[in-house]
Amino acid sequence: LTAKAAGGNQVALFSAEMSLKSEYRNDIELHLQNVIETGALFLRYLPEVDMRTGEVLATEALVRWQHPTRGLLSPSAFIAVAESINLAGELGRWVMRNACAEFARWRSRGLGGDTILRVNVSPVQLVSDGFIDSVANMLREFDLERGSVCLEITESAVVQDIEATSITLAGLKQAGVQLAIDDFGTGYSVFSHLKALPVDVLKIDRSFVTDLGKSPDDLAIVRAIIALAEAFGLQLVAEGVETEAAAMTLLHHGCHRAQGFLLSHPLSGAEMEALLAKGRIPIHFAATPRI
Ligand code: C2E
Ligand code: MG
Ligand code: MG
Repeated sequence: LTAKAAGGNQVALFSAEMSLKSEYRNDIELHLQNVIETGALFLRYLPEVDMRTGEVLATEALVRWQHPTRGLLSPSAFIAVAESINLAGELGRWVMRNACAEFARWRSRGLGGDTILRVNVSPVQLVSDGFIDSVANMLREFDLERGSVCLEITESAVVQDIEATSITLAGLKQAGVQLAIDDFGTGYSVFSHLKALPVDVLKIDRSFVTDLGKSPDDLAIVRAIIALAEAFGLQLVAEGVETEAAAMTLLHHGCHRAQGFLLSHPLSGAEMEALLAKGRIPIHFAATPRI
């Protein structure tokens, strides 16, 4: 209707944009088919720290793709495509295997013994056949102790089929991994299911954290999530801490675990290893004392 009202040109524009989109998609699909063999995927690691001390508590593996013509692609540019052409399982296994291998290498050098490796799992992977076994095998193969690896699942994936998910999550717990709900607060809420799900960690979505210190609405949401985590005995991690104001607000309200560009950008494996050797990042801010 709007295209009609605006005249014929609008229609032409619309279809040009559509074909650009499908061209992009085809191109990604084409290259993604063999990306895993060609070594074009690699991992970055985002440290998670205790903002009171700077101590590195965990590291999150984040996948990247060096595309032959489009340059460096972030996961948002290709994970959905991978899922739609049944490559999510293969991609996920590549991430899991390589993250665990590198983590085990650090540990064999005496680094990161108390640090947790966090790996993102796509909803498609979660419901795929043999997923629990493949996770259990991976822990065994790399001799990683129970609880040293944590799988991150987005909130929207958890609620899609809550009954099936809670069975899978229980199986994963039994296999020896921790579980985190990623992007907490954005999906259709899992609030009512939290009690029944074997989850260890909530990660507060970046959208509520970025403007902390100037947005009273975001503060209200974050405080509610902090109270919820306390009530259920869950660990809490804030994502996307970019400013000192956000960091101090979180500390003031009792959330001290965080990741974000104020603390560190995603690091290469070598840089992450060097950080584990140091054990902490320098902290230049302090919580305002409670009155
Ligand atoms: P996520 O799991 O919530 O990961 C955090 C994302 O936020 C990362 O983006 C990270 O670079 C970014 N980030 C961290 N701190 C800040 C900050 O202070 N400011 C801003 N603006 N951004 C920050 P990235 O690497 O592009 O990943 C995006 C999403 O893609 C991830 O969100 C995750 O859901 C997904 N993803 C990443 N790696 C994988 C993977 O191996 N498998 C699957 N299935 N999904 C993945
Ligand atoms: Mg994540
Ligand atoms: Mg997130």
